[in-house]
Amino acid sequence: MRNWVLRGVKKGRVTTRFPYGEPESVSPWSTRPVRTGEGDVTCPADAIEDGEVRMDRCISCGRCSGPFSPEGKIDISVIGRVEKRFRKSFTVFVIDTGSCGACNLEVKTLSNPIYDAHRLGINFTSTPRHADALLVVGTLAEGMKEPLMRAYEAMPEPKLVMAAGTCAISGGILGEGVSGLLKADVLIPGCPPTPFTILDALVKAKGGP
Ligand code: SF4
Ligand code: SF4
Repeated sequence: MRNWVLRGVKKGRVTTRFPYGEPESVSPWSTRPVRTGEGDVTCPADAIEDGEVRMDRCISCGRCSGPFSPEGKIDISVIGRVEKRFRKSFTVFVIDTGSCGACNLEVKTLSNPIYDAHRLGINFTSTPRHADALLVVGTLAEGMKEPLMRAYEAMPEPKLVMAAGTCAISGGILGEGVSGLLKADVLIPGCPPTPFTILDALVKAKGGP
């Protein structure tokens, strides 16, 4: 116990000031999810259109690394609906409909001391009955269609649907996204989206920090 206290005092504050300040660079990728540049690259996901990378389709295969390099930009989500009633308390149920695991991991990091989503009134629940938002990760696997709909129907009104990651938004190169079944109010691009991008989208969807 004593060691933990000393360690904490020595390390000082590790929690990001975001969204009250600019996101700090926690790792080389933490604030650099968007690829920009120019060049003739054959993209396996058809994500390069008119010289621009569509982050809702990019699968981060790295084939275009060089001509297209990551840029420091995190506010890339599409916020189609804001529910200010959730501003003080926003409870999220995460459902994995067929992910590789990376989007899941990035969502989980929001609970660590660096991102500490709880300080912003954002909490995660393991039951849809207590949830204000359904956060979908992964491509829509056939076997997950029914569980997804059951989770959605179990949620009380009002409720938000959020799709995090290329797979959930567009299906990537594997299949279809959540839009095959539900209309997503919030789209969080990236493969995977960085924790800052996810945090930014959650804060915006609930009407502010
Ligand atoms: S990193 Fe993304 S944009 Fe670049 S080639 Fe791969 S899928 Fe396409
Ligand atoms: S979007 Fe990328 S990181 Fe997320 S589940 Fe799909 S392949 Fe994995």
